[in-house]
Amino acid sequence: MKSVLVTGGAGYIGSHVCKQLSLRGFEPVAFDNLVHGHADCVKWGPLIEGDIHDRDALSDTLARYRPAAVVHLAAYAYVGESVSDPLKYYSNNVSGTISLLGSLQSHGVSKFVFSSTCATYGIPDVIPISEDTRQEPINPYGQSKLMIEKILADLARASDFSYVALRYFNASGADPDGELAERHDPETHLIPRALMAAGGTIPELQVFGDDYPTPDGTCLRDYIHVTDLAEAHVRALDYLENGGANICLNLGTGKPLSVNEIMTAIERVTGRRVPVAIQPRRTGDPAALSAEGALAERVLGFSPTHSDIDTIVKTAWASFKPAT
Ligand code: UDP
Repeated sequence: MKSVLVTGGAGYIGSHVCKQLSLRGFEPVAFDNLVHGHADCVKWGPLIEGDIHDRDALSDTLARYRPAAVVHLAAYAYVGESVSDPLKYYSNNVSGTISLLGSLQSHGVSKFVFSSTCATYGIPDVIPISEDTRQEPINPYGQSKLMIEKILADLARASDFSYVALRYFNASGADPDGELAERHDPETHLIPRALMAAGGTIPELQVFGDDYPTPDGTCLRDYIHVTDLAEAHVRALDYLENGGANICLNLGTGKPLSVNEIMTAIERVTGRRVPVAIQPRRTGDPAALSAEGALAERVLGFSPTHSDIDTIVKTAWASFKPAT
């Protein structure tokens, strides 16, 4: 059985990636420092508790499992925190990745799937956003991911290293079989926060701005189910195995939904009311983001199959424990 090293394999997206890898016959080896990940989400292969800065731990893991490829998701991903503590993000996300890449080079591991983000685009002039849109991140989180994309391109030019960078839009939902959940601490994302408000674990959902230049005044985002994201990673590995060229790909649906539309869907699916409080705009929120996904479809044969909003909300709600 071929093993694949999954950094951040105990996290929300990483654990779903491990499940899909296992379903396709790979052994997913989760490498995670458990700062934000959960050991009990690692169910389909070994968990190595370690930090990507730790060259010895990485070296031991690479020597032991001899992975055919790496899926690299280990990163800090709170935009607000990246603004207040940029060095934390550049140190972990950028310098940690450089350390990882050095270890991979020493062990001859040359296939790499990278977890990037639509935050590398900043505030786009045009949506849907295609991959050749100018990348001008507006926060250190997005900058850190863009820096890694550039490092990967340089490394690929200098050696036989090959990579796919997947620029996720809004990851959402949970494993349809109920084996995994979204468990961020703190939780800042819209859908889980709205479910918390519907389920009574927080008093209300704060809606950050209802005066945007969008049809209902609230922000538009492109929500993609985490199982679809996971599927795209497995396809990216197949693509690299088959000699595919280095590439950056958007992962989204191209069908953005507003905050109000999400709340309506949550009320419809859960049968519960979402109490809301309208707040001022959150700093750095673009009015609308949406992916042009044709390239991922052409290159990977990927199109989302779980990302209709009812499936996203149903699977997220099933994994969520309401107060009452
Ligand atoms: N949002 C909101 N209330 C919340 C969390 C998010 O109104 O408690 C809005 C946010 O302003 C954005 C959208 O929901 O327009 C999605 O935000 P999220 O943090 O889930 O993802 P992001 O797009 O920032 O990566």
